Amino acid sequence: MILHYGETIAAVSTPRAAGGIAVIRISGECALNIADRIFIPVSTSKKPSEMDGYTCAYGRFVSLSGEQLDDGILTVFKAPRSYTGENVVELSCHGGIYVTERVLRSVYELGAYPASGGEFTERAFLNHKMTLTQAEAVMDIISAEGRGFHRRAVNVKDGSLYRMIKEQSDRLTAVLGEIGAWIDYPDEDIPGLENNALEERLTDIYTGLAGISSVYDNSRILRSGIDTVIAGKPNVGKSTLMNLLSGCERSIVTDEAGTTRDIVEESVRLGDIVLKLSDTAGLRSTDSIAEGAGIEKARKKILSADLIIAVFDNGDTLDDNDRQLIELCKKTEGIKSVACINKSDKENRLDKNIIEQCFDNVIYISAKTGSGIEELQNVLNKLFLTNSSIYNEITINERQKICLDKAASLINEALDNIKSGVTLDAVNIVLDEALNALLELNGERVTEAVTDEIFSHFCVGK
Ligand code: GDP
Repeated sequence: MILHYGETIAAVSTPRAAGGIAVIRISGECALNIADRIFIPVSTSKKPSEMDGYTCAYGRFVSLSGEQLDDGILTVFKAPRSYTGENVVELSCHGGIYVTERVLRSVYELGAYPASGGEFTERAFLNHKMTLTQAEAVMDIISAEGRGFHRRAVNVKDGSLYRMIKEQSDRLTAVLGEIGAWIDYPDEDIPGLENNALEERLTDIYTGLAGISSVYDNSRILRSGIDTVIAGKPNVGKSTLMNLLSGCERSIVTDEAGTTRDIVEESVRLGDIVLKLSDTAGLRSTDSIAEGAGIEKARKKILSADLIIAVFDNGDTLDDNDRQLIELCKKTEGIKSVACINKSDKENRLDKNIIEQCFDNVIYISAKTGSGIEELQNVLNKLFLTNSSIYNEITINERQKICLDKAASLINEALDNIKSGVTLDAVNIVLDEALNALLELNGERVTEAVTDEIFSHFCVGK
């Protein structure tokens, strides 16, 4: 990633597509001077550089040769009260690709550099407008597809994760300070440094960090969608259910058993969560090579899923294929499963008691009429979004989890050291490394290489 420290940067912050409005963002020392050259105010007599921060004006955007390119709104944010902490100007022009590029080209001709991906947010971080975890949450808010993940990302953007980490790093800093004092004055009695008290304090920090880290699996699922397999023997209504959930005819629905031979995938939003749905080949014993390969794929998919929606036919008696599915669901430890007894509009012939004994969540639906889908939505939202943990309302990413786990395991090592009588000087070194991991997580002690890597995943204009 090319960064332009100290330079003025510019980029289109809206998607590169025709739309009502496009926003070009300029940030840096020359932002206002550039704006003075390409904007002729109509609604005010003030040039952009004379305008107050947080004010806007209507006017015309012109090229360097004076050609009128468009009319629109210019908004001024003055340092340090702006997104990046620098002078920022936002030009809202008509959202055509050509017109936007012409206005942007004029901005570049006046000396601004094309911003790299995430460069505005990186400047915000470097200028202390936000912490590193808050900056990362900006991308999460942009990429959120469902309310569950979005709500958590907003909380992290508001600083909740930062504060949780800071609480633990402050506690660790206090311990380290006291150990440092003991190293300097070993004959002094420092309260809180008796082995038991020290172990208790470190165990508390460890528990706090492990609690935050435990959010990761749920964060991953909510961030990228819940990998969901719709499984069941042929003809139970898997494709009909998939079509109902995705609101369109994606899977092939026929009365002929064994029609879905391969895996059909679709992302759908159900209430506050996003399901990455796979409608698989019906699970049954077969002599057909093609169908057999599809069934094998389906089994593998089930074993790597986050959620299995096991579908049974209310109008049919339970057979060996159903029993195999029940066994498969029982075997898949760690994978959540919900039994959907489909065709509830038909007369009941299925032994429901057996299903109810084997699954914690059983729902009666009719994929054909849509009845019971709300109940399915409620159960899934409860399964993935309800958690009594105090850390439930945040999300963490892989980088953050690696830092957390590193810190936690070093604290554990320090605890082992204390128990086995290692001196506090040595314990101090291990704990100092744990603190470093937490400071890197929060961005308080982080290398340029790490921040560059983080922001390189951002989109241009952000
Ligand atoms: P799959 O093989 O499991 O994917 O099953 P399909 O979705 O292809 O459905 C098989 C047959 O069952 C089709 O004729 C569907 O119209 C029918 N079907 C699906 N869901 C229902 C339902 O809720 N009620 C009734 N009566 N028929 C259904």
